[in-house]
Amino acid sequence: MELSEVKGIGKKKLEVLNSMGIFSVDDLLNYFPYRYENRSIIKNITDTRDEENCVIKVKFISKPITKYLRKNLNLTSAIAFDNTSKINVSWFNQPFIRNQILPNTTYYLYGKIQRVQNQFKISSPILSKTFEGKLGIIYPIYKVKKGITNNDMIKFIDFALKHCIDEIKNVIPYSMIKNYDIENKRNAIKNIHKPVDYAQFKRARTALVLEEVIIMQLAMKSMKTSLNNENYIQFDEDKSIDYFIKSLKFELTKGQIDAVRDIEKDMISKKRMNRLVQGDVGSGKTIVAEAAIIKSFSSGYQSAFMAPTDILATQHYESLSEDFSKFGLKVCLLKSDLSKSEKNSVLEGIQSGYFDVIVGTHAIIQDFVEFKNLGLVITDEQHRFGVGQRKKISDKGKNPDVLVMTATPIPRTLALSYYGDLDISTINEMPKGRKIIETYSVGFSYEKRIATFIRKQIESGFQAYIVCPLIEESETLDLENVTELYNRLNNEYFSDLSVGMLHGKMKSPEKEEVMKDFVEGKTKILVSTTVIEVGVNVKKANVIVIYNAERFGLSQLHQLRGRVGRSSNQSYCILISNAHSDEQIERMNIMVKTNSGFELSQKDLMMRGSGDLLGTRQSGIPLLNIADLEKDYDLIEKAALITEYIEKNELCKTKEYVYLNEEINKFREKLLENVIFN
Ligand code: ADP
Ligand code: MG
Repeated sequence: MELSEVKGIGKKKLEVLNSMGIFSVDDLLNYFPYRYENRSIIKNITDTRDEENCVIKVKFISKPITKYLRKNLNLTSAIAFDNTSKINVSWFNQPFIRNQILPNTTYYLYGKIQRVQNQFKISSPILSKTFEGKLGIIYPIYKVKKGITNNDMIKFIDFALKHCIDEIKNVIPYSMIKNYDIENKRNAIKNIHKPVDYAQFKRARTALVLEEVIIMQLAMKSMKTSLNNENYIQFDEDKSIDYFIKSLKFELTKGQIDAVRDIEKDMISKKRMNRLVQGDVGSGKTIVAEAAIIKSFSSGYQSAFMAPTDILATQHYESLSEDFSKFGLKVCLLKSDLSKSEKNSVLEGIQSGYFDVIVGTHAIIQDFVEFKNLGLVITDEQHRFGVGQRKKISDKGKNPDVLVMTATPIPRTLALSYYGDLDISTINEMPKGRKIIETYSVGFSYEKRIATFIRKQIESGFQAYIVCPLIEESETLDLENVTELYNRLNNEYFSDLSVGMLHGKMKSPEKEEVMKDFVEGKTKILVSTTVIEVGVNVKKANVIVIYNAERFGLSQLHQLRGRVGRSSNQSYCILISNAHSDEQIERMNIMVKTNSGFELSQKDLMMRGSGDLLGTRQSGIPLLNIADLEKDYDLIEKAALITEYIEKNELCKTKEYVYLNEEINKFREKLLENVIFN
């Protein structure tokens, strides 16, 4: 069936659907809700939690009244009762609702309950006399664009399910479905859109995630195999790395040495290096990368070093230039916003082989950059680079060796999914003398005391970061935004100190200027959005204050915290939050108690794993439709088992596997096209 044959889809709606990436009935059926509202359970008012969305069954005990607050704003409210409690019900700008409410009649209301002590409120709930239609179900919510409503989506998908369900085929072969007790595809598709209960939803989602991850893993593996068949570089066996290590001002940790030796072995072997170095923030990964670059240089090759942001690239450029100066390496910085002539001269230097090390953001992989003899590619904070990008940069040389560095430790099976089949080195210790970062979680009332504390630290020669979640003022959210916070703190507390401001909307040169001033200690305080999240290294900074910390996830908070504690001085991390929900409070507590990124990510997995899957956002990775690599840990493990079984028994060659093979090929193509930046 064509999409246009679905009841209700005319020319206009068809266009909108296309713009949502939906071109066929198959696409429509694979357009999954991004969240659900559980409207299937009726709760007693007294059993509800603050901010909980649920259905209550009430009678109205007062006549609704409409108040006209100001122009275009009126509020209709009434008191309702459900045998356990009264509740104040109100609607904005729906005065007509007065006429729908009758005395002595039972109504079902769905909406967000607010509970202050034992007073309950619900505003703008859905009102219904019956527990059916939009109520009494787990209600799917789709991401839609203007011109298509959620209701439209529900109707279209209903229609498609009714008429096209037979066209859906199992991609995971039947024998696997049976062995591993996986829901069959038809049920899975039907129930992901219209689950009757949580168990059914979960079973459907499990099947779809498994399918997607199995396809992804097999596609990654096949890609790795094909990459390995090509030519490799065998770097010289020499003492260059030893000399480099001896030249350092400090001793490497055991973890760093092991990582360096792993790299060295890979580089001089016939194998092509494809290695992930993971180590907590501050564990000293940059030095490890530098050792690899030295080896590449001494064998006569160029190296590329990619970082996710301009700020970070600039910083790496500076430290690499310094560390390499006595070894004679020529380092250049390639950014997206160089002037034309600057860019041309850099590009020329890269092509002629004048530059040995090319540092930059993704600008490095733009098509017009030509290397003389690229032998090594390093990407820092890899989780921001896609597989496609790695492949693309690999294509630039004679199959250069690849080194990936990440501060987000990931379990093996996850690494498998992210990186195909990289070898992994783990640095699991910090340089000597590092102190645990003291972390505190406080409310907004502490601001003044914090300001005094910061001032004291600055007087002792230190610097501070202040981070807040937003750039611009938001009308709907009660959150700090960077300009306002900057102005306020400046006026109220720090008028005599030099304070800088940094956010993502600033132009690159401006950002660098601000960063440079902070690095050089010209500014003592940096008020910033999360653009400083990854990698920024200012040793003198020993305080980081994070506003609205409840808005951030654990790993992001940990990354931010990693901006301090980068020397042997005592550092502090202060989380200012409005934490409401149990989960938010728990997150703050974990941050206070846990300093190790590895432990933290375990807890993160556990917390999210046990969390309610209904209502969670999908992964931000455009390649994946439903699986979330960070949250679906268990399923990814299970998929890995299945994948291994399929591989070991060479099942892909059997007839049962035609659909799976088709999907693997499609996924490979997507992988190669894929460009992920955020
Ligand atoms: P990350 O792993 O977060 O990228 P960096 O490579 O930026 O960490 O290192 C953090 C800081 O620690 C840098 O200033 C670096 O010079 C320093 N450092 C790295 N290794 C050691 C070591 N073995 N001993 C002392 N300081 C070190
Ligand atoms: Mg780093």
